[in-house]
Amino acid sequence: MKYLSTRGDATPRHFCEILLEGLAPDGGLYLPQAYPQVDAATLARWRKLSYAELAFQILSLYIDDIPAADLRTLVDRTYTAQVFGSAEITPLKPLEPGLYLQALSNGPTLAFKDMAMQLLGQLFEYQLARTGRELNILGATSGDTGSAAEYAMRGKRGVRVFMLSPEGRMSPFQQAQMFSLQDPNIHNLAIEGVFDDCQDIVKAVSNDLAFKQRHHIGTVNSINWARLLAQVVYYFFGYFRATQAEGEVVDFTVPSGNFGNICAGHVARMMGLPIGRLVAATNENDVLDEFFRTGHYRVRGSRETFETSSPSMDISKASNFERFVFDLVGRDAPRTAALFGTAVAREGGFRVSDDEFARIAGFGFASGKSVHADRLATIRDTWQRFGTMVDTHTADGLKVAREQRRDGVPMLVLETALPAKFAETIREAVGVEPPRPPALQGIESLPRRVQVLPADTERVKAYIRDHT
Ligand SMILES: *Cc1c(COP(=O)(O)O)cnc(C)c1O
Repeated sequence: MKYLSTRGDATPRHFCEILLEGLAPDGGLYLPQAYPQVDAATLARWRKLSYAELAFQILSLYIDDIPAADLRTLVDRTYTAQVFGSAEITPLKPLEPGLYLQALSNGPTLAFKDMAMQLLGQLFEYQLARTGRELNILGATSGDTGSAAEYAMRGKRGVRVFMLSPEGRMSPFQQAQMFSLQDPNIHNLAIEGVFDDCQDIVKAVSNDLAFKQRHHIGTVNSINWARLLAQVVYYFFGYFRATQAEGEVVDFTVPSGNFGNICAGHVARMMGLPIGRLVAATNENDVLDEFFRTGHYRVRGSRETFETSSPSMDISKASNFERFVFDLVGRDAPRTAALFGTAVAREGGFRVSDDEFARIAGFGFASGKSVHADRLATIRDTWQRFGTMVDTHTADGLKVAREQRRDGVPMLVLETALPAKFAETIREAVGVEPPRPPALQGIESLPRRVQVLPADTERVKAYIRDHT
């Protein structure tokens, strides 16, 4: 399996060549040259596998430059009941007939990003040791990415993490989770701006190829292909748990921001997994919902980016969206480059053609939007009727899933975080304190390691220079 860029750089690259990369050199995103196809007989064989075995089978289709025995070891070390709280790793929780939550948030930071990041920690350490290299991870987070990356990389040999977050915009719990890490290889940088300012700085630093090379800069942002690949696995796993046989179809609703999670669903569907619909649920920051309703992709500025009670979805542009659009336009790289390299950069967005818009349904995509009042009502309703507490992001998903459910088709809502991370809104909704795992009690009062910086690329570069 080789990889290409959505903007036309067709240099064939192996998995390990892009493992430590973010953007391709031409500014595009990496995708496999073709999606491996999985037939019904293969699905039937995979149905009975444990999560780790299933992960090994799927990853093997995309990774041909890590010996199978090594890959198996890395995967087995990652997906354990000890790290993810149960042997099922991502168990289904039925709410009512045909409606399920798929629990993706029982890893160390209580959000679904652990699913990919814990594997990445293993892959990075393995690859760096094998090549005698070192890596300085530069990332931007609105909350969950940062903590998941830091918990995956803390203490790992050959790796440092420089994590940018918008100052004061994460929940107190998220801040405590990240800033309380005392590992010397973890650097928290709080940026005076919004998430997209952080993301722009990461892109600017990555585009400075000389700096990038000199300081061994890499990324674990959601544009990293290995991360996306790791997320493909739980769509298969959820499918097998919600169905009896291979002919059946299921729908997924995915609380979405940067389009990484749902893009993994798109990849699973392109491989032949019988997914009917992929429903993108957004919060008040409805860039994606607007696109799927109108065909108009309109990036928002800082002033139009709302701070919401589902903060991990507070984005103004969706960094993985280019991957889907590349497939939507028939893998036409010049067209993709014109849309994302030119139109987004110059005009802040684009409108796809009528023809392209008409093709979206064939890819299964649908969408919906949920606002603060919906979130509260959904959290309350789910608590009162089922005794199940959902976090604010999952509530956005559940609200939209209820609108999009189809008769006779199981709907799986991806549970992307635990309520303990967003206690304030849970209290507002149901007047009850969400339970917190014992290991995380009292973390708000631990000493903090964080550096505040202005939204200035040069200042961030200087900090990295001083600490590598
Ligand atoms: C990151 C995150 C999302 C959004 O996922 P994307 O891959 O960015 O679309 C949703 N919910 C939670 C809790 C998250 O941490």
